[in-house]
Amino acid sequence: MDPSKVFCHNPDCPARGKLGRGNIGIHSLKQRRYICRECGKTFTESKGTVFYRLRYPVVFVTQMITLLAYGCPIAAIVAAFRLDERTVAFWERRAGEHCQQVHEHLVQQPRDLGQVQADEIRVKHQGGIAWLAMAIQVSTRLWLGGVVSACRDGNLITRLIEQVRRCALYRPLLFCVDGLAAYVSAIRRVFRTPVFTGKRGRPHLRAWEHVCIVQVVKQVCSRRVMRVVRRIAQGTSEQVVSLLKQTQSTLQAHVAYMERLNGTFRSRIAALIRRGRSLVRHLETLHQSMYLVGTVYNFCAPHKSLRRVLYLADNTRRWVSRTPAIAAGITDHIWTMQELLAYQVPLPPWKPPRRRGRPPKRIKELINRWIL
Ligand SMILES: [Zn+2]
Repeated sequence: MDPSKVFCHNPDCPARGKLGRGNIGIHSLKQRRYICRECGKTFTESKGTVFYRLRYPVVFVTQMITLLAYGCPIAAIVAAFRLDERTVAFWERRAGEHCQQVHEHLVQQPRDLGQVQADEIRVKHQGGIAWLAMAIQVSTRLWLGGVVSACRDGNLITRLIEQVRRCALYRPLLFCVDGLAAYVSAIRRVFRTPVFTGKRGRPHLRAWEHVCIVQVVKQVCSRRVMRVVRRIAQGTSEQVVSLLKQTQSTLQAHVAYMERLNGTFRSRIAALIRRGRSLVRHLETLHQSMYLVGTVYNFCAPHKSLRRVLYLADNTRRWVSRTPAIAAGITDHIWTMQELLAYQVPLPPWKPPRRRGRPPKRIKELINRWIL
């Protein structure tokens, strides 16, 4: 047990989410509990992880979630390990929610994206068809996020583009998308920043410069691609060529990286398999499975095309495996499944209670100690 690597989880504690500030001590080695000296609350080692209050051993739960994350059906796990179906479904749900928090904390941070590809997958849903839209950063193969919706409309695409916007720095950016018109309007609407002038009313929104959009439309005849039409919907051809040069080996715009990632998701989520028999009952389940598969893809699974050659001193060479998260500079090593499931996402800093007038001395001291 290492008190310097944990933080207080009490939402009312001024020290919540603060790491290495000396307020955490060991409460019980036998029960593996910590204590926060600021608020006096104790909490278990597994608080804030997938393993919190589970009756099964950590290693066993990790193995079961690993099977789920690589596409093993729940029915197979139930039959092989004699577990209750609801228990396995609960683990998958909790792992998905945890992975969403990890994704929002570590991946959805501003970075120079270069080129982003986006696409939608048609999903069979009990009682109809649903859509899953996702986006990828080309140079690092980083999965940027996805949205599940019952309709393939402007709302779905806008929510996806808003996720991409959270990952983007104000730098030249190229979008390669399919022919859906909603992309162009969503990108133009979302990629704007307010210009504050000090006047009253809503500030004027200025569109980002150097955001290019290329639409790649495949003309299909009896399930064969006959022709690929590329249209520049925004930006100049020089800007597009320069961004393509920086981010990929060919100079032709395509959505192949996104289609390859769709293939990974199709093989790991049963409801996405083409002409398969499984249906999604609740869209919420698909949302959680998507976050589990996507975060494992980003952090735990080495990507073959990202490996690098390392020349050693004795003139021999060795291949070094890398994950999309390493390529994007989020981490420096390949995460194990247990590391991902036990990662504690820091809580947002404490906010002092709002009240009129000058804060009392006690609150002032807390603000000085924990916020300033
Ligand atoms: Zn506390």
